[in-house]
Amino acid sequence: MTATPATTGHILVFNAGSSSLKVALVDPATGARAMSGTAQRLGSPDAAFALDHDGEESTLLPLHDGTHDEAVSAVLDAAQRLPDELRPVGAGHRVVHGGELFEESVLVTDEVVAAITRFSDLAPLHNPPALLGIAAVGARWPEMPQVAVFDTAFHQTMPARAFRYAVPEEWYADLGVRRYGFHGTSHRYVSERAAVLMGRQPSELALVVVHLGNGCSAAAVLGGRSVDTTMGLTPLEGLVMGTRSGDVDPGVFGYLARQSSMSSEDVTDALNTRSGLLGLTGRSNDMREVQAAARKGEKRAQLAVDVFVYRVAKAVAALVVGLGRLDAVVFTGGIGENDAPVRRHVVQALGFLGLELDEDANEKHGRATAGRICRDVSPTALVVPTDEELMIARDTVRLVRDSETDYSDL
Ligand code: ADP
Repeated sequence: MTATPATTGHILVFNAGSSSLKVALVDPATGARAMSGTAQRLGSPDAAFALDHDGEESTLLPLHDGTHDEAVSAVLDAAQRLPDELRPVGAGHRVVHGGELFEESVLVTDEVVAAITRFSDLAPLHNPPALLGIAAVGARWPEMPQVAVFDTAFHQTMPARAFRYAVPEEWYADLGVRRYGFHGTSHRYVSERAAVLMGRQPSELALVVVHLGNGCSAAAVLGGRSVDTTMGLTPLEGLVMGTRSGDVDPGVFGYLARQSSMSSEDVTDALNTRSGLLGLTGRSNDMREVQAAARKGEKRAQLAVDVFVYRVAKAVAALVVGLGRLDAVVFTGGIGENDAPVRRHVVQALGFLGLELDEDANEKHGRATAGRICRDVSPTALVVPTDEELMIARDTVRLVRDSETDYSDL
């Protein structure tokens, strides 16, 4: 049989979080969304799903049980009602943990599903909902090609000196305790876009990409490959985040167990959900609110911003060691794209590396317009809006195109 795979058409992209589901119907050629939606507070009584169709008012889909399953079914129902020209030709799924097995995105097979299931031990809140999406699409459209895009894959190029912890060897050999890194799809997309904006090839560049959203991580990208990153075995390590602490002394576990009889689960939960900006301010995990409170003179909010910025700058400087030199720092994510004061303070703290902020450019560039925010010297800094969904859609189309299967009847 001659393979005539689908080479054009929309891709249905699933991004399943622990209590949320984001979906988008993406044109991989242009990045345009024909449909997009977010289900939030899944697992709680006030779960809701807002779906936007291109150019139309947002519709609220009722979720009676508020489960991931129900949310996925609602998406598939909506996709089934689309006109023929918008019907998806493939599905791409963000999968948080691919362990050491997946160095790039792959077509979903039974073996891939089994491996993702195995790695659920490493990402118990994230891998299972991704598997639900894969199973639901497979049940509804058995012929539809599906692709898994791993947060960890881009960082599989890290050398051992960067990914190994100095812990007993058998923790690594038997239990997989090492740094994996996350946000890889964003770091990959943003580093490629930065190269285009700089008029250079990714292979020539030494970049530190700083993804600052609810989750925050930075990655050293040398010649287009990740050589180090701040997140570790789990997405808890590294920078200060919305509700996650980032780095703390692991001695805190034993200390709190002795002082307050907190179990390791209690401490882990507090470090994930009650720390970061929320822990420092006692009021919010949202940088907009934290900045507003700091502007009003609230000391805890100002301290939270100071700690956040200091830790970003410190991490960037440390990551330059992995690069050996620095061409650019690239900001992305909700905070990185929108918060000009955070960028200004990080760049100023890195002045000793030769970065010189261009105040006007820093105010001008952001989510709407990517661009350089430093004077035209090297190293420089840029803002580049991330687009993980577009990257997932592109990977999906590329893998479907490269595969031998005939999907022309879809
Ligand atoms: P996620 O990691 O869930 O994808 P985002 O990348 O959207 O989240 O980032 C969310 C963060 O971005 C929040 O802390 C939010 O306050 C922050 N943010 C969004 N818009 C702005 C803004 N205009 N100024 C400062 N921070 C912003």
